[in-house]
Order: sequence, then C-alpha cells, then structure tokens
Amino acid sequence: MEPMDGRFAPSPTGRLHLGNLRTALLAWLFARSAGSRFLLRIEDLDAAMARAEHEAGQLADLRALGLDWDGPVVHQRERTERYDQAIAALAARGLTYRCWCTRREIQGASSAPNGPQPDGAYPGTCRDLPDAVARRYEGEGRRPAVRLRAGGATVTVDDRQLGPFTAVVDDLVLRRNDGTAAYNLAVVVDDHDQGVAEVVRADDLLPSTPRQAHLARLLGHEPPAYAHVPLVLAPDGTRLAKRHGAVTLPDRLARGETPERVRSALAASVGLVQPGEPAPLAVLLRRFDPAALPRTPWRLTP
Ligand code: GLU
Repeated sequence: MEPMDGRFAPSPTGRLHLGNLRTALLAWLFARSAGSRFLLRIEDLDAAMARAEHEAGQLADLRALGLDWDGPVVHQRERTERYDQAIAALAARGLTYRCWCTRREIQGASSAPNGPQPDGAYPGTCRDLPDAVARRYEGEGRRPAVRLRAGGATVTVDDRQLGPFTAVVDDLVLRRNDGTAAYNLAVVVDDHDQGVAEVVRADDLLPSTPRQAHLARLLGHEPPAYAHVPLVLAPDGTRLAKRHGAVTLPDRLARGETPERVRSALAASVGLVQPGEPAPLAVLLRRFDPAALPRTPWRLTP
C-alpha cells in the first residue's frame, strides 16, 4: 500500500468512549500499516463544550492504548485565520451569502409546501433575500451565519469501505452566527493544510462527506480519500453514550481491566484477534486488512 497520511480528530467534549477509541485504533492502523504519518487534531471550535481537561484525558487514553502520532497536536481554535481566508476566498467568488434563519425557522421550513429537506438540509430561505429584508434583520441586531452557495451540486464520493455515496450538497454553514467557523469548513481546510490523504472516521459522518469533498474542490484542492468505519452501538441498539455504563477507558480500568485487554476487545470487534487473545500493535499491524473489516456496527453486549 502506498503511504496515505491519516488523522484522528476528536472533539474535546468528554472522555472518548469505546466507539471513539475503536475509530482511533482503526485510523491509526490504516495509516501505520501503510507506512504513513498519523496526525492528531483537536476539534475545539465549540467554546461552550471544549475543555482542556477533556483533551488531556483523550490524549492519555490514546497513549494508554499505544497509539502514537506525528508532529504537534493541531488545535482548531488556533487556526481561525485560515478559516477566515477560506471563507473570504469563497465570498470573493460570490459563493457565499448571509443567513439569518434560526434553527427553529429552518425546521419550520421543512414542513413547508415544497417538502421536507433530507438530512436537515438547508431549504435556501435566505439565498436570495431582498436587501431591504437583510437590512431589517441587521437593524434588529440579528447576527447572520454565512452559508455556501452550493448551487444544488450533486456529488459522489467513493468510500474505500462503503463504496460510492451520492448526495445533493445543500447550502451548508461556513461560519456560524456566533462568528466561529463551522465544522464542515474547518475540517476541509485542516485536512488539506495538514496534508491528510485519507480520512478514516465513523460512518455517522458519511452523509457530510459529499459536502466536504465539494467544498475542498471549490477551495482548489483534491479532496482526500475517505474510509468510513462502523459505529459502536449500545446493547439497546442506540448510539453509544455515557449513560450506557462502563464505556470509557477509565471506566474499564476501574473495573480491573488493563489497557491491553481493552485494546484486545476493540481488535476482536473488527476480527483482528479472537476474543480474549492478546493484541499487541505489531500483530495488529501485520494482520490489518481494510477489505476484511466489518461493514456493520458493533453492538456491545451488556
Ligand atoms: N470531531 C469530529 C468528531 O469527534 C470528527 C470529525 C472528523 O473526523 O471529520 O465527531
């Protein structure tokens, strides 16, 4: 396999759970088994949720599992200038507009006569807003978000694990109305600037991938390759969360498990070892084969 630099990009909003840890292990295996760099980025744009102590805990957990990374950890909050540049470049080409809609208005628009929008896609309410209306909103002190004028582009990405995935790109938010860069913009700028060639992440982000590929091309870069891996679900089939009990590494250690045992359970869940078999990283690297990874979620047993 030729080298394709990879990354893991957690949001420091809590401890990593087993699903996040499994994604990190897989992203590391994709990169390292191909002799590639593996980069770490902390997605801390959400000032209300991001905490330094969560970041420290997340890095400690990755280290405890034996995962290493190259170069300094990148923080999104230190990169606002790059996001501003990207938005300005799109704006200069007429590819942005201001949007005053609240979340509630967007949801309300979904039940309007022209029908609901898939995936919470933006219905375009502010796309061609008369100046007078925009001025009235400004006068009321409302703060606009900035959206991409996506032009209804239909984009297909060829996911390494899941095959072709096609979606219509909506007018996604580039800058939120609190002034912060939006996730889709930041992730595209960062992956490009960091030299990420392959994005390995959980498949709940597959629906956002055509947006990101489209945005990358508008910014003048070839999008990275994508490999989406299955989520880990709770025993009841819902998304794994803290309320499901011992789902973080510290929880597991408190129950008397070792990091090696947790790594073995993660590796067994993707078929790299038998349940209970030791899983040194050297063995996992030797056995790792993306084509043999499961395509369906891992449901934890109680
Ligand atoms: N920060 C995102 C998360 O923790 C991941 C973004 C990505 O991998 O593109 O869910």
